[in-house]
Amino acid sequence: MFSKILIANRGEIALRIQRACREMGIKTVAVHSTADADAMHVRLADEAVCIGPPAARDSYLNVAAILSAATITGAEAIHPGYGFLSENAEFAETVEEHGIAFIGPTAQHIRTMGDKISAKTTMAALGVPLVPGSDGGLPDIATARKVAARVGYPVLIKAAAGGGGRGMKVAENEDALEEAWNVARTEARAAFGNEEVYLEKYLDKPRHIELQILADTHGHVVHFGERDCSLQRRHQKLLEEAGSPALTAAERDSIGRTVTDALKKMGYRGVGTLEFLYQDKQFCFIEMNTRLQVEHPVTELVCDVDLVREQIRIAAGEKLGYKQSDITFRGHAIECRINAEDPETFTPDPGLIKVFHPPGGLGVRTDSALYSGYRVPPYYDSMIAKLIVHAPDRNAAIARMQRALDECVVEGVKTVIPLHRKILADPEFRKGDYTIHWLENFVAHREG
Ligand code: ADP
Repeated sequence: MFSKILIANRGEIALRIQRACREMGIKTVAVHSTADADAMHVRLADEAVCIGPPAARDSYLNVAAILSAATITGAEAIHPGYGFLSENAEFAETVEEHGIAFIGPTAQHIRTMGDKISAKTTMAALGVPLVPGSDGGLPDIATARKVAARVGYPVLIKAAAGGGGRGMKVAENEDALEEAWNVARTEARAAFGNEEVYLEKYLDKPRHIELQILADTHGHVVHFGERDCSLQRRHQKLLEEAGSPALTAAERDSIGRTVTDALKKMGYRGVGTLEFLYQDKQFCFIEMNTRLQVEHPVTELVCDVDLVREQIRIAAGEKLGYKQSDITFRGHAIECRINAEDPETFTPDPGLIKVFHPPGGLGVRTDSALYSGYRVPPYYDSMIAKLIVHAPDRNAAIARMQRALDECVVEGVKTVIPLHRKILADPEFRKGDYTIHWLENFVAHREG
């Protein structure tokens, strides 16, 4: 086992990883920008190294500075967290070339899954169902027309290098196809420097359901069930639950078997998430994330597993030591992402936190790096905390989350807590009756 790990991240996820390390008796090295000198992840680490100025490209994305920090401090492994360098294949490769373990999959798997076309082609070959659409990239508009006619309108033109919902355009009918094609390619070129696009049937009422998997380096693969992340605004998740209100245990077992078989054949290593659109009882793969996800705690609570500990064990070459049949699903968990944003306009609202009081009590977990007197810097993501609750069933989890939100005090910046309160009180949400379009409608039509 490693004796020292460098955590190449900040905020709540850096603390989350430190917590696992501490419980395993592993020393931690924090890296930070000059804007984060007073951050909690720096204060709580065993050692800290400043890696550059505030802008992420000069600090948290600065591969040379991070590698130097690892070398100087004698860290044996690097945990990338999520975002920043977590899905950067060159980073993973460079880390390993320096004799440091990368706590994540191989660079080759990161690369394959980072390109959406190769991800889909790979998964299809391994027996994972896809959204009907083009076989790979589209060479020209004439081919796009043919594929669209075959799968039926509306269709979605998507960027091969896509991410964050950019480079994605819907065409309702054939007349609109050429414009969607042009706009998607222009956006893709501007955002990713790669104008390759592909086409999928546009699903009108899907849920976003994702499967959490874990693989060791000895050929064992298990899944920890699903998370329902349908509540999204501009393709950004806001509230997640485990399990999905829409899925039966038999459906979970069946899709779980499909994905674990696929990843076993791939020789995958570490944690991973396969994202699906789920409509009319059909699962359609859209992408795979080759890292820990923001919403991993809901899975941890229903499966009683520490996913970060598992990641570290796997990177150190240990065996899983348990089988699929050992994993059970207990109760229901919900996560609310607390962003420092205006709850009406979603404009980020960084600044001084005058008071922070996290909620607590039975079944409540707060993952946050906030403290009273901390100044939220304007340079990074606006998520300042995650509230996660666990209860015997979904109704009890909703009541517990409402109580936790009432207890949570954040003074000094605006947060989306009022929006979460409205969602949790809504009859459709309470019935579990929602799709990926639900939140946008809710936000557009809510009163007061
Ligand atoms: P990105 O990586 O840019 O976030 P994804 O492929 O993961 O792109 O899609 C993001 C979101 O866009 C999905 O969660 C879903 O809400 C929507 N979406 C993607 N593909 C489709 C589709 N074929 N039909 C309907 N909605 C889709």
